[in-house]
Amino acid sequence: MIISGSGRHEVEAVEERVALLDVLAQAPAVDHHCHGIVKDEVSAQSFQKLATESDLPQGPGGDVFDSPVGVAIRAECAPLLDLPRHVDAESYLSRRAELGQREVTRRLLAAANISTYLVDTGFCADEITSPDELAAVSGTQGFEIARLESLAERLAAEGVGAQGFYDAFRAELESALRTAVGVKSIIAYRHGFDFDPARPTEAEIRSAAGAWLSSPERRLSDPVLLRALLWAAVDAGKPIQMHVGFGDSDIVLHRCDPTHMTEFLRATVTTGTPIMLLHNYPFVREAGYLAHVYPHVYLDTGLAAGFSGASATSIVRESLEIAPFTKVLFSTDAYGLPELYLVGALRHRLALARVFGEWLEADAIGEADARRYLRLLMGGNAQRAYGLTPHQSAATSA
Ligand SMILES: [Zn+2]
Repeated sequence: MIISGSGRHEVEAVEERVALLDVLAQAPAVDHHCHGIVKDEVSAQSFQKLATESDLPQGPGGDVFDSPVGVAIRAECAPLLDLPRHVDAESYLSRRAELGQREVTRRLLAAANISTYLVDTGFCADEITSPDELAAVSGTQGFEIARLESLAERLAAEGVGAQGFYDAFRAELESALRTAVGVKSIIAYRHGFDFDPARPTEAEIRSAAGAWLSSPERRLSDPVLLRALLWAAVDAGKPIQMHVGFGDSDIVLHRCDPTHMTEFLRATVTTGTPIMLLHNYPFVREAGYLAHVYPHVYLDTGLAAGFSGASATSIVRESLEIAPFTKVLFSTDAYGLPELYLVGALRHRLALARVFGEWLEADAIGEADARRYLRLLMGGNAQRAYGLTPHQSAATSA
């Protein structure tokens, strides 16, 4: 059959996209921010809770299977559980229960084709898999990301005094970083990015620690202490992940615009400590601007890309508007459900294939460049920023 005119163009464009997906599947993928998977069986009720960022009970109209991520799960995960694409929620959950969490996890993680996981261990660590367990179940490698606030809260629970608090914290951080490849700050949750950018004095820290430790509150939300932890991490020099934007009801979204901490980024630019802006939705363009201007700033679109299902392309596209292709990373921010790793990775790859496919079609980029950038965007940038040793992915070593 002779294909002419726009038809031929269409076929070539689809072929290009398929070739790009091939490159993306072969490139070792580093999920630079995720959590563990729930070890126990998942009930229909806990599935509903785990497949949303909302921590509030949802009334009529709140079924996660009718949200973008739920539609994506029914489309993409169903065939891996031997079900037709777009299966209804009830059939999906009943097949899931039949197979069991362990088998579902094995199938979905194999298909997610992620070669390295950097795992935030600071949230509900007892209920979910550790970095080693996650790596073992998927035959890959896992590294720990230590959460700053959790380290401080553990010291408080152990009875540290105000006088010795900061020294004890720095020692704790140093010890955590013997194995962890980076740290994470949730100052966005606990305060917002409109914090004083200056390094707090020892006297300020002692006084704030005194007030916190003598109160019954164990959740750290004092802005002086939160930024003291950040500055200790800046001194430590390993990448600092910062939650940005989209999150649960604990967030006041407008205070999570990362440009609120422009002065902090200016103050830390000469330290060279990488600042990794996580998620960023809906401030993806703001994050892209910061990564463009500040040499130590990186961004990703994890969480948003997974939760937006079929709309992930527009979010990923925004992340590639002005930031150098060497500063954009891949993550799923998956937590609890193996479905979120699969959907996060798959939608991210499809979005990259679509965007780069269009650029190739328009001859706006060369093929060798496109292939090189896709490998960097999936894993190479993270390997460089975190100093990881390259690891053969399951796909490339097969
Ligand atoms: Zn997370």
